[in-house]
Amino acid sequence: MADRRPASPELVVRLCAITKAFANGATVTEVLHGIDFELHRGELCALIGPSGSGKSTLLNIIGLLAKPTSGSLWMGGEEASQLDEPALTALRSRQLGFVFQFHHLIGALTCVENVAMPLLIRGTSRSVAQARATEALAEVGLADRVRSRPSELSGGQQQRVAVARALVGDPPLLLADEPTGNLDSASSDAVFGLLRRLNRERGTGVIVVTHDSRIAERCDSTVELVDGRVHSDSRWKLQV
Ligand code: ADP
Ligand code: MG
Repeated sequence: MADRRPASPELVVRLCAITKAFANGATVTEVLHGIDFELHRGELCALIGPSGSGKSTLLNIIGLLAKPTSGSLWMGGEEASQLDEPALTALRSRQLGFVFQFHHLIGALTCVENVAMPLLIRGTSRSVAQARATEALAEVGLADRVRSRPSELSGGQQQRVAVARALVGDPPLLLADEPTGNLDSASSDAVFGLLRRLNRERGTGVIVVTHDSRIAERCDSTVELVDGRVHSDSRWKLQV
């Protein structure tokens, strides 16, 4: 039976007994088998594990992009299974920023227009959105690329624009699914260094899926998934 106590204010997100099953014709395959997970304010957590272990599925559930089959997820004082689609969209917009392996910037827009997008979707005025997007680009070291299009930037710079877009609304939680998976090691260090700095300066909680042990070592905590279960959690100081 899922624990349905609300998360404490110190927690950005709390998952209890989360399962996820996918139906393929008559076959139903469960890929997450009862995940318990918490993230505290200001914590930077690495989510590691073999390919196919369920990391992206779990991140999509935490990001309110996919619904769990069972279990409970608390975020921003709300339990997600109780919310309808408009309420989930509002919670996502208030609480979450995303960075993926591929930057998913819109090629037809300039950098500042891309970064302003989450604020415009929230209903922020164009002039305020533009000003805040410009500041966010300066924070990621791209003040001089405001009017550039994504195709004019290097892979590392594109990923820094994606970080600016994820953080422009100052969400309490940033989810990053292999954000450096497509970058050389110098760009990878720069992008991770940026996440680490913004996490420290703003207290943003970050969950970063990574295959890179050098990145995992620089996180505050490491949670390892194997076959859809938490195999180890460095915060528990033991293997489960
Ligand atoms: P990871 O990110 O750790 O590589 P995933 O979360 O992408 O793992 O996948 C975990 C398992 O769930 C895999 O066996 C994958 O094939 C399966 N899976 C993921 N998404 C779907 C889907 N939409 N439909 C069916 N199976 C899926
Ligand atoms: Mg994945």
